[in-house]
Amino acid sequence: MDEEKTVDEKQAKRLPLSLYGLSPQDISTVLELQKPYQGRQIWDWLVKGATSFEQMTNLSLAERHRLQESMPAFVSSSIQSSQIDETGATKLAIRLHDGKIVECVMLSDKEGRKTACLSSQVGCAMGCAFCRTGTMGLSRNLAAEEIIEQFMHLKTLGEITHIVFMGMGEPMANFGAVTRAIRYFHEPAGLDISLRRITISTCGVVPGIFKLAEQKLGVRLAVSLVTADNMQRDRLMPVNKAWPLEELRKALIRYQHAVGKRFTFEYCMIHAVNTDEKSARKLAQYIRDLDVMINLIPWNPAAELPWETPTTQEIDEFTNMLDRLRVPYTRRFSRGRDINGACGQLAVPLNTGK
Ligand code: SF4
Repeated sequence: MDEEKTVDEKQAKRLPLSLYGLSPQDISTVLELQKPYQGRQIWDWLVKGATSFEQMTNLSLAERHRLQESMPAFVSSSIQSSQIDETGATKLAIRLHDGKIVECVMLSDKEGRKTACLSSQVGCAMGCAFCRTGTMGLSRNLAAEEIIEQFMHLKTLGEITHIVFMGMGEPMANFGAVTRAIRYFHEPAGLDISLRRITISTCGVVPGIFKLAEQKLGVRLAVSLVTADNMQRDRLMPVNKAWPLEELRKALIRYQHAVGKRFTFEYCMIHAVNTDEKSARKLAQYIRDLDVMINLIPWNPAAELPWETPTTQEIDEFTNMLDRLRVPYTRRFSRGRDINGACGQLAVPLNTGK
């Protein structure tokens, strides 16, 4: 009840739900600060992860009290629960201001990279047949501040070096909020995450790839391909009916020319579905003339879905075929699988919302 009251009070006063994502000038305006430089001071504290005005010790005590009273909570979401697996992957369930839940994951690797896997939507409308999030349907888009706050919650676990938009939702279907959040992450005076360390992953929403090419945002692009056979892709990924493989290819060639960067295809390997010789040959043919790296990811189990993870032998045979066909690939090992935090495993009941 208290949380709902705070939201209502903010709306009555026309305060934003969060200070994250606002510029120093906007912070000055919404908080009615007397001295313009205080907007920058507060912005700096937010970047450091401050959660209350009390922590902002370069503001006068009187000002801190005034701000605390006028906006008791300036973060719109909170950590509802946290799970960690033996690889060190940590999944957070984040409770949003309207009671809905999204999940985000922190992944660590041996090279010391800490990657924040962020969600862009509550649920997803794309309905990929191999993905748990796809079973939820779409509840709503996330606002940029809600995306930024996921990062800030994960940042309490350690310094983040990389960001991937591979959590819940299709980032291209919420392009404005995602790019606003990216600009915040990249701001040199703030979090200063290099654009080369940020990846947007799409299931193949062609207009989004064109937009990315036009805007030359500088982030990395990953496309979930799964199969290079149109009929099979239609069945596994409904997005293919709107933008079949030929359309996707045209968009990727445009992207490549505009941005001049290698992109990746995510190839989720599903037992006895897309790991045979025909699949390897189609893949080799499809990537001809594309500057692409294939990320091979074994399907991560989800009890409610009818697929199986390929065996090690099956993966070995598939990669041998790719070697013979000179397909460049990297073999990924799933992290976060035991906590349902790996690729395609994120899902929460939608009825947790109002
Ligand atoms: Fe949505 Fe991505 Fe899952 Fe497809 S794979 S249903 S786009 S979250």
